[in-house]
This record gives sequence, C-alpha cells and structure tokens, in this order.
Amino acid sequence: MGKEHRDCENGNFKGEITDSHRFCKLHSSFGFMLLEPLNYMRRYYESGATQSFSFRKEQLKKLKQAIVKYEKELYAALYSDLKKSPEECWVTELGMVTAEINAALKSLHRWMKPQKAGTNLLNFPSSSYVMNEPMGVALIIGPWNYPFQLLINPLVGAIAAGNCVVLKASEFAPATDSVMKKMIEEIFPKEYILYMQGEGALIVPQLMNYFRFDFVFYTGSTAVGKIVYKMAAEHLVPVTLELGGKSPCVVEVDANIKVAARRIAMTKFSNAGQMCVAPDYVLVQQSVKEKFIESLRGALLSFFSNKPEEDYNYCRIINEKQFDRLTGYLNSGKIVHGGRTDRGKLFIEPTILENVSLDTQVMKDEVFGPILPVITFETMDEAKQIIQQNPNPLAFYVYTSSRKRGIEWLNAIPSGGACINNSSWHLTNHHLPFGGRGFSGMGNYHGKYSFDTFSHKKAVMKTPTWFDPNLKYPPFKGMLKWYKKIIR
Ligand code: NAD
Repeated sequence: MGKEHRDCENGNFKGEITDSHRFCKLHSSFGFMLLEPLNYMRRYYESGATQSFSFRKEQLKKLKQAIVKYEKELYAALYSDLKKSPEECWVTELGMVTAEINAALKSLHRWMKPQKAGTNLLNFPSSSYVMNEPMGVALIIGPWNYPFQLLINPLVGAIAAGNCVVLKASEFAPATDSVMKKMIEEIFPKEYILYMQGEGALIVPQLMNYFRFDFVFYTGSTAVGKIVYKMAAEHLVPVTLELGGKSPCVVEVDANIKVAARRIAMTKFSNAGQMCVAPDYVLVQQSVKEKFIESLRGALLSFFSNKPEEDYNYCRIINEKQFDRLTGYLNSGKIVHGGRTDRGKLFIEPTILENVSLDTQVMKDEVFGPILPVITFETMDEAKQIIQQNPNPLAFYVYTSSRKRGIEWLNAIPSGGACINNSSWHLTNHHLPFGGRGFSGMGNYHGKYSFDTFSHKKAVMKTPTWFDPNLKYPPFKGMLKWYKKIIR
C-alpha cells in the first residue's frame, strides 16, 4: 500500500481524492463508525504483531479454551436457533472446530516453514523457496445453518496464517451470533479480530465498498455469493466462495441398499436437511426403488421415531421464510413418507417424495430442508442428464459395490467433493480439502488447506554475489547459441 493511501486511511491525507482513495471516503454515511476500527486493524496488521509463530499459537489456544468455557452457552444458543442436541452440536459444530484447532496447533510450525523449491539452470547458483505470507486483513462471512462451525473454522485457518479478521455471522441464527460475539470479544482485541453484527445485505456492501480487504472468505448461497464476488472483483480482492447447490446421490442396483438408506437418511435429515452437502435428491435404479424406499422409511423411524416433532434428535427449520419455501415443495410429487408440518413449531417431518417431475421447482432449487425427492433411472446416461440440469454440485455421492462403477461415476460427474458408499462425511475429515467448483464455489479449506487459503504463496529467489556471469547482461549479440543451451 502506498504512502498516500496509508495517509488517507489514517485520516491524514490532504491531497486530491482520486479513484484509488475511494475506500477511504470518511465522509460517507458509513463514516467513522465502521471504518475507524478497520483502519486500526489495518495498522495493527501492518505492525507485524500477528505474524510470529508464538503469537498465532497463543491465539489458537485462547480460542480452544474459549470453546470449552462457552460450551454450554453455545449448546443453548444452537438449541434456540435450530433445536440441535448437544451431541449433534459437538459432532458438527464445536467438536469439528476443536479438531481443526488441534490439527493447526500440531502442525503450525511445519506449515509456516518456507517450502524449498528447485532452481533452473538459468538462475544458477540461486536458491528458491516459497514463503507463506498472511493475506492481511480478511473478511469472513458465515451462514446460519452451522452458524458456529462455518464462521469459526475459517477463523482457525486465518489465525494460523497470521491474518487480522473481521467476522460477520448470519443474522438468522441470532442466539448463536450473540454468544459468538461475546466469546470473540472476550478473548481477542478488536484491532485483531473484529466481530460485526447486522443484516448482511446492509453491512457487507458497506464493509466491502469502503474498505479494501485483502481477502474475503464467504459461505452461503450461490445468489449472494455472486454479489460478494462482484464487490470483491471491483477492488480485485481474492475470494474463497463456499456455496450451495444440488448434491445428487446415486444408488446403483448392486449397492448395499440397507446401508445406503441408513447413510443417506442420516445426512439428509441431520439438521433437518439444512446442510450444504446433504444429499439433495436420490437417483435410484428402477429395480431397487421399492426396497430402497422401504429401507429409508425404516431408517427414519428408527432415527426419529414416528413423532419426530418431539424427538430429541430432530432439528427445526430456521425461520418462517424457509418453512414457507420448503412446504411449497410438498406437492411436487407423491409423498411416500412424512409430509406433516407445523408452522408454529417450524417443524417439517422428514419427507420422501416420489414421481417428481424434473421440471418442478424442487428439482431446480437447492432443497436445503427435510424433503427428499427419489427419482428412478435405468442407464447411467439418463442419470447423468438429470444431474447436468444443475452442474458442478458441491458434492456427489454414489452407492455401489463395484469399484469400477464407483470410479466411472466419479469421472463422469464434476463436483466439489465426493463419496463412494457414503454421504457428506468427507467434510469432517480435515485431511481433505473442502470446497465447491463452478456454481458451488471456488477455493477450499480445512486443516492445512485452510492455512494455505489464508496465505499468499510468495515466490522467493536468493542469489549469491560471487557469480555474476556477463551472459545475463547486454550486449546480447552472439549469445543465442548459449541461451539455446541453457533455456530448453
Ligand atoms: P445467505 O447467502 O443468505 O447468507 C450468507 C451470509 O451472507 C450471511 O452472513 C448474510 O448475512 C450475508 N448476506 C446476505 N445477503 C447479503 C448481501 N446482499 N450481500 C452480502 N452479504 C449478504 O446464505 P444462508 O441462507 O445463510 O445459507 C444457506 C446457503 O449457504 C445454502 O445455499 C447452502 O448450501 C450454503 N452453504 C454452503 C456451505 C459450504 O460450505 N459450501 C456451507 C453452509 C451453507
């Protein structure tokens, strides 16, 4: 950043305001209220305070301890927002983040080390390496469905990589939002990690238009992802976009149908289907459809009883808007299980639909709720055509006992991630990169991938002075034969 820009951010700039100073318009309605702390943050970052190994490690430990301290409050908040049980909270929210922190604490020293790189003959006797430089001041925007995990997991990567961070949680999980704010403000100074609350459509554009972040990490819908991407593009800010989409689930004739049904039921109806990698719809081979639906029914009854509205394990829909959207899908096919709803309790029974026409809205939108369309197919080509209506899903699942068939499917369907004989669990393995492609997003994170996402890979070449061949300096005439020997 140039001196003028810095002066501008410091409020000292006296020259003409040009396009390059547009982020610094202190007279906007946004004004000092939000820009001041961001400018502090910028200066704090530039002081280098966040960069040492010991600092990063200390902050990760603080975060881990805070999760222990706030465990009960977080459970209560997540129950209030989504009726999640403590067990579900641990597996999908607090425990997952704790495991990420532990992985970072274990490996941070190694991750931070510059990676040696080879050096070509042209640059002999230089040495080369890749240095991990923090991105700088990052903005992390989270959704409401796993409000804790999806905001704090990226934060772990950002801290590990030495960044300052502005956190913006979803306003639609207000109880969790408020506990996270209390927790973050208790452990981190505002110039290091700043927690912002409010309506995303108002706050995020204000933040991104008036302050130039060095990186934006966004998790949420594809529609809002496009808005965030456009705002970032305006200032050439790099982004990671973790978006949604329709993740298909294929059940082949040779699959272990009982196990497939249990696994699909588990991840489709966990968090009442409000999971980005939940199987969105099932494509089952015609001849095993009845057996599959029967097994699915059995699994649902054993997981959530015949009174899921009272069941300890079954969550609720986040709000009336989502409830109304979801209940609108219920007449898209024949209900073969479930279908009961209660708007007052934001309850939708785990529901299976069959005979769903491909041109209905439920087959166009991401369902993101406890409604599972089951569609039959005869050939792989037929199933592929259905999947291609919504290309590049966040995840793709295939159930088959044939190793060859599984690989054929993986090669046929481009997707962010995939599982064979499983659904969704790949996201809980921090050794794997998690992210989408195309409409389901760009970039990835988890474990070391989070560290890499929040680091700039700086290419460094170090050259001794004892050897300085004339070959590299003009006059070049007559050197071609030598260049052809060296560069090939
Ligand atoms: P959303 O896009 O409505 O909101 C996400 C965040 O963006 C929130 O913090 C919100 O305040 C903010 N926001 C809303 N409008 C905005 C605007 N106009 N400009 C800037 N920011 C704005 O998403 P959601 O409803 O909270 O989450 C559901 C979606 O997220 C689903 O599509 C789901 O698949 C996806 N999702 C993806 C992942 C993933 O890891 N890929 C994880 C969870 C959810």
